[in-house]
Amino acid sequence: MAALPETQNLPNAATSKNTEPSQNAETFASLSELAPLSERLAATIRTVEDFPRPGISFKDITPVCTDIGLLGDCARALARKWESAEVKAVAGIEARGFFLGPLVAMQLSVGFLPIRKPGKLPRETLSVSYELEYGTDSLEIHRDAACGGQNILLIDDLLATGGTAEAAVSLLEQTGAKVIGCGFIVELGFLEGAARLPGREVFSLLRYD
Ligand code: AMP
Repeated sequence: MAALPETQNLPNAATSKNTEPSQNAETFASLSELAPLSERLAATIRTVEDFPRPGISFKDITPVCTDIGLLGDCARALARKWESAEVKAVAGIEARGFFLGPLVAMQLSVGFLPIRKPGKLPRETLSVSYELEYGTDSLEIHRDAACGGQNILLIDDLLATGGTAEAAVSLLEQTGAKVIGCGFIVELGFLEGAARLPGREVFSLLRYD
């Protein structure tokens, strides 16, 4: 069966099968406050080996979505991180960034900007292509999605190699927006994806190192 488009870049994450989460003090705004949330996430997220391809250690966040209290706490924790940052909108990446992004936006009382796979948005779009292990993929946003200079917070479910988030940042910047931060439920720290997001505050609720 063909891999879903949003997981096509997963082979980069296959270099490690480390499934033990770690708590990095630098990752958390307040470790004592968020540690219970990271523990709840670690207990809820399911690691599925060899999905969608052999060698991939897939972090399945759908049980987090099922537990609406936990999903809400994730949104509140991410919103709290940027509550003083004058965020003008939250952007989320299709598809799993749509689970969480609108909830974070609601917490911050701002709008949500969908970044979508090619051909989904009906009006004039901007597009960015990025490298996968085999071939390329693209993301699109409506050209008028954000106004110049606006502070945007980017949200996705998981940071692996950082290629997807890097592409989304470049797309948002094409609209003239300023991406001030990138928030994730999970970060595969051993892949060092945050290094591809220089100048942005990267914040994750659960890290696997
Ligand atoms: P990357 O561009 O390598 O940072 O990959 C990030 C995107 O791919 C996110 O949208 C994730 O949903 C997905 N992804 C990458 N690796 C994994 C993984 N090990 N488990 C679950 N999703 C993943």
